[in-house]
Amino acid sequence: MSLKGKTALVTGSTSGIGLAYAKALAGQGANLVINGFGDAAAIEQERLGMEATSGGKALYSAHDLTKVDQIEAMMKEAADTFGGVDILINNAGTQHVSPIEEFPVDKWNLIIALNLSSAFHTTRLAVPYMKQQKWGRIIQTASAHSLVASPFKAAYVSAKHGLAGLTKTVALELATFGVTANCISPGYVWTPLVENQIPDTMKARNMTREQVINDVLLAGQPTKQFVTAEQVAEIALFLCSDAASNITGANISVDGGWTAG
Ligand code: NAD
Repeated sequence: MSLKGKTALVTGSTSGIGLAYAKALAGQGANLVINGFGDAAAIEQERLGMEATSGGKALYSAHDLTKVDQIEAMMKEAADTFGGVDILINNAGTQHVSPIEEFPVDKWNLIIALNLSSAFHTTRLAVPYMKQQKWGRIIQTASAHSLVASPFKAAYVSAKHGLAGLTKTVALELATFGVTANCISPGYVWTPLVENQIPDTMKARNMTREQVINDVLLAGQPTKQFVTAEQVAEIALFLCSDAASNITGANISVDGGWTAG
């Protein structure tokens, strides 16, 4: 498969799963818009690496996707540079772990804005070009938490279930335009998002680091292995291929069997 001449925008692609998507897409020759926060020099090194791999262009957008005007600015920058976005991967996300009665309102608002509303805004802005081209791929990094819940993750589980609903709706609206919309739903993937949950969980459950990893994180994952970011990225590449043109409105689990139970 070659994605030469196509442009992929991956939100939250300076780290973890998003970075793996961007590198995989560069490997197929796609132009890229990468987005997210982090060390400027490290991001520039990744951006240059993607251009070297793809032979195309990679643009870095530092926009904060909790803000509608910044999402609009990012999408305009992509359109001005590349004409439009052919492959949209909504991946930026964050987590907060807390009982519902103590759940900070600002964390709820942040998680809904970033993990759910930003996907609505990027999608509504990307779709006109995709419809006109009669080709497009919209891919969400949802989560096993788009299908099942866990305690203490009210905002995250709500946002991810919402993302699954948004995806099905968009899939139906675009079914005759050559545009597919799908969720990829990983179980636990070893990334900074997971690493950052460990200290709070150690405290909340009075556990060692090893106990948190084995008895909490991997407890529900029957394979007892973390999913890798590269495995998730391979699914996205498949969804971009012609072989996947009839997969739309799906929610593809990559969770080591978690949601089979
Ligand atoms: P990560 O923390 O490694 O990456 C998150 C990315 O989002 C980073 O690039 C970060 O800079 C960016 N980001 C954060 N706030 C932003 C903002 N306001 N505006 C723009 N970008 C912002 O996390 P990850 O584990 O790679 O998670 C990526 C996605 O995968 C998330 O949606 C997450 O919910 C989902 N997911 C992760 C796992 C897992 O186990 N790691 C499992 C299922 C789903």
